[in-house]
Amino acid sequence: MNKMKIHDISYPISPNMPVWPGDPPVVVERVSSMEAGAGVNISRISCGVHIGTHVDAPLHFLRDGERVQNLDLHILVGDAVVLEIPSDVSLITAEVIRKAGLAAGTERVLFKTSNQERWKLAPEFQTDFVGISPDGAQYLVDMGVKLVGVDYLSVAPFNNSREPHEIFLKAHLILLEGVYLNKITPGNYMLCCLPLKLIDSEGSPCRAILMELG
Ligand SMILES: [Zn+2]
Repeated sequence: MNKMKIHDISYPISPNMPVWPGDPPVVVERVSSMEAGAGVNISRISCGVHIGTHVDAPLHFLRDGERVQNLDLHILVGDAVVLEIPSDVSLITAEVIRKAGLAAGTERVLFKTSNQERWKLAPEFQTDFVGISPDGAQYLVDMGVKLVGVDYLSVAPFNNSREPHEIFLKAHLILLEGVYLNKITPGNYMLCCLPLKLIDSEGSPCRAILMELG
């Protein structure tokens, strides 16, 4: 087997990560410590499920939508393209996607935008992040895309969150939010992003990787 190159595109989970305004804070704490005399180290976490690199299930915006435990693993793993969006673009519209050259038949696309600069301002949450417009969302649905990834905490702009989410989730696309693409060269990869098997949740953090065959 050829040696596979693996790129980690997951944002580190810690109290220092930016969190959506109003969401619970991220706590990672050692509740049993060998340093303090315990036989083992044990940590606990407390957080919302839409932190860092995470997956949205339809239930996030649709009352009777699919739960995260039922998302199709065949969509969460497979060929993906990382598409670069020029740094002067503040909204990913259908026109922007057309110009970026999304190939017909693409099933998974991750957008690399100027959001990469916004991660550097952590832990402050940045409201001016680049998201996808309703017509951009509809364009991706019409193209037959099955998974859309974005490099900040929501696929949709801060001031228009609902409409793009609804367009995507009604069409059963899986949304991968908060991918960390700073070191990733645009191009073709194999994506693997597996949410935790949380029962009845509308989302989950995941470990996301891009693989390339050497
Ligand atoms: Zn989310």
